[in-house]
Amino acid sequence: MAGRKKIKDKNGKRRLQSRILMEEMIGRPLMPKEVVHHIDENPSNDSTDNLQLFDSRAEHNRHHLLGKRRKRPEFFVCAGCGEEVPYPKTGRRRKYCTPECYRTTLAGEGNPNYRHGLHVKGRG
Ligand SMILES: [Zn+2]
Ligand SMILES: [Zn+2]
Repeated sequence: MAGRKKIKDKNGKRRLQSRILMEEMIGRPLMPKEVVHHIDENPSNDSTDNLQLFDSRAEHNRHHLLGKRRKRPEFFVCAGCGEEVPYPKTGRRRKYCTPECYRTTLAGEGNPNYRHGLHVKGRG
């Protein structure tokens, strides 16, 4: 995806720049359910003026739907990395920004919804 920047945090882990910047702004680590929203709706603009914190995906989605009579939001929040990503112009609803993110959640690493010992199966 164009512009979405990953940088290393102080623990040397590659994470989204917007989330690391927000943690610096509020002085604490973000909880996995918290969403960093881009005020100008440009996910590549990680200027601190452009970042806004929402408590949950539901809150965040409500914000995007405000003032818009669209059934489908223009952005969704990736279930893997928690970053908001534009919906593709065509195609189905997606949960993850990239296949890489999807695989990350299968491995359990960095997955906010991961439960110990629970694995997603290919069928069923
Ligand atoms: Zn947003
Ligand atoms: Zn992602």
